[in-house]
Amino acid sequence: MTDSAASSSPLDLPGWRHVYSGKVRDLYEPSADGEGMLVVASDRVSAFDHVLEPGITDKGALLTTLSLWWFDQLAGADGGRPIPNHLVPGATPPAAVAGRAMVVKKLDMQPIECVVRGYLTGSGWAEYQQSQTVCGIALPEGLTDGDRLPEPIYTPAYKAPMGEHDENITFEQSVGLVGAERATELRDLSLEIYARAAAIAEAKGLILADTKFEFGLDADGVMTLADEVLTSDSSRYWDAEAWRAGRTPKERMASFDKQIVRDWLAAHWDKQGTPPALPAEIVDRTAARYRELIGLLTG
Ligand code: ATP
Ligand code: MG
Repeated sequence: MTDSAASSSPLDLPGWRHVYSGKVRDLYEPSADGEGMLVVASDRVSAFDHVLEPGITDKGALLTTLSLWWFDQLAGADGGRPIPNHLVPGATPPAAVAGRAMVVKKLDMQPIECVVRGYLTGSGWAEYQQSQTVCGIALPEGLTDGDRLPEPIYTPAYKAPMGEHDENITFEQSVGLVGAERATELRDLSLEIYARAAAIAEAKGLILADTKFEFGLDADGVMTLADEVLTSDSSRYWDAEAWRAGRTPKERMASFDKQIVRDWLAAHWDKQGTPPALPAEIVDRTAARYRELIGLLTG
């Protein structure tokens, strides 16, 4: 493993020009005339909107493997109707980033993170304790951290420009951002994809507690699934057996996702200034759980 996967500096990739780096992914466009975009997933890990040190070994490749598997399921391998996605069929990323990159269509991205929650936890649980709502949606009383919701709910967030914090919004506010037709399309697609994915996960002994999608419009105006999809960065996955048997929230939420990192950081950092470096044990455990998730889902 070279250190390039975790580093923040863009790579020198023949035929491609670096145009943008998000917290986790680096984007490249063709250096000459050409279409499409190269999305390279690094080993960087972010929590509470901070990129942490060190990276998680092979995370970029693990996320890419998982995204590609889910894009294939949602393209119809699961027996459902094909959901349009941003992959350019047959296009191969440069050898230097093989395994952790995708060649995609450059889309007109919608400024909305399309979050679906089937279970109550995280920021949803925090809001529920204050107001018995999640993103303004009223919920039954008496729920606890990790409980299943009566039905999955769509809780969009405004995708803030780089460096700013994403902000939870109501469905009505999403209508204000993209119009009623697009907002409805984003909500319906998100709920459909969540339901299909949760059923697949359940058959493998996993709970898909919540997840976040991003969509963009292609050149023909078709709403297209983009970015990463249903990865352990963008989703919460729990062990279904542990959830059924567990009595405390901690016992119930045996996570195959970034929660390991969030929990460690929350216990060791007051969210002021630079976050502390992650201990090797947390890095290794996170990488192992990401790998385990892929085995369970795709094996
Ligand atoms: P930010 O962009 O605010 O840094 P982030 O940390 O989530 O957010 P990454 O996930 O690291 O960013 O980077 C991926 C970026 O690429 C996101 O801004 C995402 O919206 C964008 N993106 C993903 N797929 C496409 C696509 N097909 N066309 C255009 N942009 C895309
Ligand atoms: Mg992202």
